[in-house]
Amino acid sequence: MKKTSIELLQADITTLAVDAIVNAANSTLLGGGGVDGAIHRASGPKLREFCSSLGGCSTGEAKITPGFNLPAKFIIHTVGPVWQGGRNNERTLLRNCYWNSLSLALKHNLRSVAFPAISTGAYRFPKEEAARIALTTTKDFLTVNADFFQRIIFVLFSQEDLQLYQRLFREIFE
Ligand code: ADP
Repeated sequence: MKKTSIELLQADITTLAVDAIVNAANSTLLGGGGVDGAIHRASGPKLREFCSSLGGCSTGEAKITPGFNLPAKFIIHTVGPVWQGGRNNERTLLRNCYWNSLSLALKHNLRSVAFPAISTGAYRFPKEEAARIALTTTKDFLTVNADFFQRIIFVLFSQEDLQLYQRLFREIFE
């Protein structure tokens, strides 16, 4: 089988036609600002209706919904930790977001997955450390689940974030 393609892309995640995009949701799963708001707007009102039956989601966990009006087939909603200085288990919880999202994709046979930079907006997680966790967790997941994923895409909203990921990608994967 072919090796997983890991891609770094500057884009709006709501435009991607992949099996699943990951949403940096809040624990209510009922929508919010940032990427969460953009996903709810693009997916349409059925998403909120569906999410309201899910009973929320704990930090670090993940739940799946259809993509509704999105080009993506499914949305994996995960709740990142709010950065509180680093002594409240934030790093492990962020790692859990990536790990549990990838596990859910695997369980549902979704082979192309796009991630935003979870927790790095309103939740204020330091960007470099968050990027390192995103990339190392993915690398670790792929070492124990080789050959399943076709594409894992890290979607960055700004050019600065893209450059940060490019630098760390070289360090971690090459
Ligand atoms: P959190 O509450 O987890 O911090 P935010 O949505 O505030 O989530 O920010 C997470 C990241 O998502 C930030 O880097 C932000 O720039 C980025 N972002 C915001 N909108 C989009 C979008 N439409 N597509 C991709 N990334 C986005």
